[in-house]
Amino acid sequence: MTVETKTTIELSDVTTVEFECNKCHSITLWPLEAAKVPPPKCYCSDQPWFTIGGETYEGIASLISLMKRFKEIKKEPFIMRFGIKSVSAAGHA
Ligand SMILES: [Zn+2]
Repeated sequence: MTVETKTTIELSDVTTVEFECNKCHSITLWPLEAAKVPPPKCYCSDQPWFTIGGETYEGIASLISLMKRFKEIKKEPFIMRFGIKSVSAAGHA
């Protein structure tokens, strides 16, 4: 017998948005409700992560906005879930 464990999350499960710096690995954590736009840079560097108003910036801002919108809507006749890799399958390098 094979048992497959499926892990999913709904947007209502999402409480925070986290940004980790690739360089120093410090984490900026925002409650989703308060998040609007991504942090422009890490404190470890003067180099911005992206151009304010550029494609990445606007994309993340739109994604946060959409997540908040669909997190709040409870009247849809469906439930939307996202599958996530199980920890054992993904491993940790
Ligand atoms: Zn950093």
